[in-house]
Amino acid sequence: MPPATVDLSPGTDLGARVAAVRADVTRLHGELVRYGLVAWTAGNVSGRVPGADLFVIKPSGVSYDELTPEAMVVCDLDGALVEGDRSPSSDTAAHAYVYRHRADVGGVVHTHSTYACAWSAVRRPIPCVLTAMADEFGGEIPVGPFALIGDDSIGRGIVETLEGHRSRAVLMAQHGVFTIGSDAKDAVKAAVMCEDVARSTFLAHQLGTPEPLPAEAVDRLFERYQNVYGQGTEGDPR
Ligand SMILES: [Zn+2]
Repeated sequence: MPPATVDLSPGTDLGARVAAVRADVTRLHGELVRYGLVAWTAGNVSGRVPGADLFVIKPSGVSYDELTPEAMVVCDLDGALVEGDRSPSSDTAAHAYVYRHRADVGGVVHTHSTYACAWSAVRRPIPCVLTAMADEFGGEIPVGPFALIGDDSIGRGIVETLEGHRSRAVLMAQHGVFTIGSDAKDAVKAAVMCEDVARSTFLAHQLGTPEPLPAEAVDRLFERYQNVYGQGTEGDPR
């Protein structure tokens, strides 16, 4: 869809949906800061515009303090700029690849959060040794391939790795975390929870060797959390 044919003016239905996602994605970047997941500008959130082949993402190199809904950029699913004054985040191609290949994904987050990065640096999946991890991720948080920015290889690595897992988070080898969600808020929640369990399990490994939870317990915890508490992103059984 060439940009010229897209009418995003505020009076249109599509324009209103874009504006809502712009506001959401702006607010959610503040959550990355609040939860200590980012240093400088190294982290980004995107959100799919419901009912359109578009997503809203952070502009490249803009500090979190300066982000406003107007500063966000709108891209098509090839990662091409559709609306915005600045260039999109350098991770836009990876986000776009995920949206193109996963119709169920409404939000994508990327961070270099400290403990998750430590696991990714040694290319070790985060083992499922805590009930909270079984609830949220349904198993281990896997490691994806080492891939450099510049083509589809990061996006492909995210999609291919998550295909075999219930996890909404993937540790891209020697790089950082990508998370997916039903919307941008859900993907941010996954990024926050990923760093939380990365920290707890790192500490557990200093004390000894934690045993992975039995598969049956993981299944029961995951089903219960997703089905009983998973109706809204606010759900928290603990
Ligand atoms: Zn990165």
